[in-house]
Amino acid sequence: LPLIAVCGRPNVGKSTLFNRLTGSRRSIVGDEPGITRDRIYGEVEWFGRDARIVDTGGVIPDDEALIPSEIFRQAQVALEEADSIIMVVDGRTELASPDLELARLLLRGGKPVFLAVNKMDTDALLPQAENFRRLGFRNVFPISAEHNGGIGDLMDEVFESLPEPKTHEEEADPDFEETPTEVMMTEEDEEEEDSDGAWIAPPPLTEDQVRDRIEAEQQAAREAYVEPEAPVEVKRPRLLRSHGEHELKETKVAIIGRPNVGKSTLLNALTGTDRAIVSPIAGTTRDAVDEVVERGGHSFRFVDTAGIRRKGKTKLMAEKLSVIMARKHLEAADVSLLIIDATEGVAALDANIGGYAHESGRSVIIVVNKWDLMTKVGKDGMRLWDGKPPVDPKIYEQDVRDALKYLDYAPLLFISALDGKGVDQVFKKVELVSRERRKRVTTGQMNKFLEKVDFQKASVPMNRRVRIYYMTQAAVAPPTFILFTDKDVKMHFSFERFLANQIRDHFGFIGSPIWFKIKARN
Ligand code: GDP
Repeated sequence: LPLIAVCGRPNVGKSTLFNRLTGSRRSIVGDEPGITRDRIYGEVEWFGRDARIVDTGGVIPDDEALIPSEIFRQAQVALEEADSIIMVVDGRTELASPDLELARLLLRGGKPVFLAVNKMDTDALLPQAENFRRLGFRNVFPISAEHNGGIGDLMDEVFESLPEPKTHEEEADPDFEETPTEVMMTEEDEEEEDSDGAWIAPPPLTEDQVRDRIEAEQQAAREAYVEPEAPVEVKRPRLLRSHGEHELKETKVAIIGRPNVGKSTLLNALTGTDRAIVSPIAGTTRDAVDEVVERGGHSFRFVDTAGIRRKGKTKLMAEKLSVIMARKHLEAADVSLLIIDATEGVAALDANIGGYAHESGRSVIIVVNKWDLMTKVGKDGMRLWDGKPPVDPKIYEQDVRDALKYLDYAPLLFISALDGKGVDQVFKKVELVSRERRKRVTTGQMNKFLEKVDFQKASVPMNRRVRIYYMTQAAVAPPTFILFTDKDVKMHFSFERFLANQIRDHFGFIGSPIWFKIKARN
């Protein structure tokens, strides 16, 4: 069945309209008094045709800071799921900035949108509805949800815009497009909105003016269409659609680790034959040099390779310097390669440097180097370099992971920089994690996921538990999620870990830390 979405601020009469249209045919009801938790679905029948209808729900909070994300969320639900959208405003109040923002998003989504100006209970009020044309909608319908006024006209048009039941051929054709684009936000309108907070309603447009504008602007708007920026993606969802893959032309890589683990040897192996450019970066210290390698259409910039090659005079100095360099390299990088010397295992300094990598928000790949020494055995089956029996890589990996617990998301590679073994894998993993850290999950997907999480499994004391209303990905690189909760408390670290792991099981984000922010609504 086609789907109609109803959007709008609270108290505009959204639920009244929804209830009127669905009667008792409502399937899911919000479970929180005062808070319509996610969305409510129902069914509506109009002159023999059926459609599903969704109340995008939610509460647009008073807190200014939270308004955008809630608006985005509603618009996103509508644009992702619905075939046609009804935005409801209160005709008896002034236009408010959340209305403008919501209208703007909806109109840019390329779906048919209808504006229902509600609470027009008497004819005398009707002219007021005209003011709302300024929101940029062609389809403006004064209605009274309470008294069942004007709803017929609205629903006629809404149903007209819905796709006809598809034939088999159409369904088979991937290029089949049934929804017309209906956009008429003009630049002029935007300038007025943006100039300052005050909104002065100009005289309403006549029908002719409106029609003229639509024709000119529909085309212009289609051409000028830009995808809205963060926090959500407002396009048809595909699970795990990675974001901006095409924009990602270069990944900055930091090679970090304590002295003598093989950083310069690895750099040589990575850049050796494929080395493309050696470029000092303007504005940095004279000896900061990056090396760039192009491979398979992707470019890898190894940051500050001069620093990697630098050797300290004494052991202690070299060690201190390796930490300083690691921090500096991390700042300039997207992905870090944490190099461990296989023959020594994870030392305290490795853990220290790994900690900085984790906190930096950069993606991490653990690279166990000098693996050749661990595997080459003599006639007696014992290792050549120390005469001990070889170890199972799985057991070895477990030891590394136990020593670097906070980096549980980091892929681990065994390589020999000296022999060039596993160097290909390094490139592949860098490319993978750099894609993963830029991945974006829509709020719709996130909340579907959230419903499935068994929070009973999170071993957190009751008094430290928070109730999560919903979650939205606010940023990429590293993926950052805002949790809208009932309490403004710092998340217990074990809960944070639990949630991050659940997110990873579901969405991946391989190699990247996951960050959280809490916003309490009360
Ligand atoms: P850096 O201080 O981390 O840059 O370490 P270097 O790249 O200078 O390497 C330190 C020492 O380890 C050198 O003697 C390298 O030849 C040796 N080395 C580096 N990688 C490997 C490897 O994969 N296998 C073996 N056997 N030795 C390595």
